[in-house]
Amino acid sequence: MAGDRERYIPFLPMGSSIFSRIIQGEVPGSFIYRDDIVSVFLDIQGVNPGHCLVVPNEEVACLADLNPETGKHLFWVAHRIANAYRAGAIECEGVNLWISDGEVAGQEVPHVHLHVVPRCLGDSLIIRYDARSWNESQRPRLDEIATRIRERL
Ligand code: 5GP
Repeated sequence: MAGDRERYIPFLPMGSSIFSRIIQGEVPGSFIYRDDIVSVFLDIQGVNPGHCLVVPNEEVACLADLNPETGKHLFWVAHRIANAYRAGAIECEGVNLWISDGEVAGQEVPHVHLHVVPRCLGDSLIIRYDARSWNESQRPRLDEIATRIRERL
């Protein structure tokens, strides 16, 4: 991932979230990567070693306010980190990428961040939900939902 952008950080906007303070160097962080758009550092309470957060340097609280180009870059960087983990940088058998957008979704820090979580068999992360089962008789309802979303893209 080394590239020109990685060598300097020309734009570090002031912000007040804990992540902005880490990015600005006011609070310690264990950095994996940084460029002019995003910074990546280890989560202080990671599920497994290597659990990191890909964070836009510019502080925005929610996905709706995130510049789509920044969003692309966020995923691009996370993808490369996941590949590095899968290639042996971190001992793991899988990886989760996740974003919690909104308090109800579990977002604790109001500064958009994409988690990259290396996963190991038997680790402590349990993703559990009561699955709503759909069947073919409900296809019209599924199609209605799909149409509603499509129309707003
Ligand atoms: P969220 O629940 O908002 O998706 O994730 C917030 C994450 O930020 C949590 O996993 C939490 O451990 C991490 N976190 C909170 N405060 C700090 C901090 O001061 N430093 C670092 N490195 N991570 C933090």
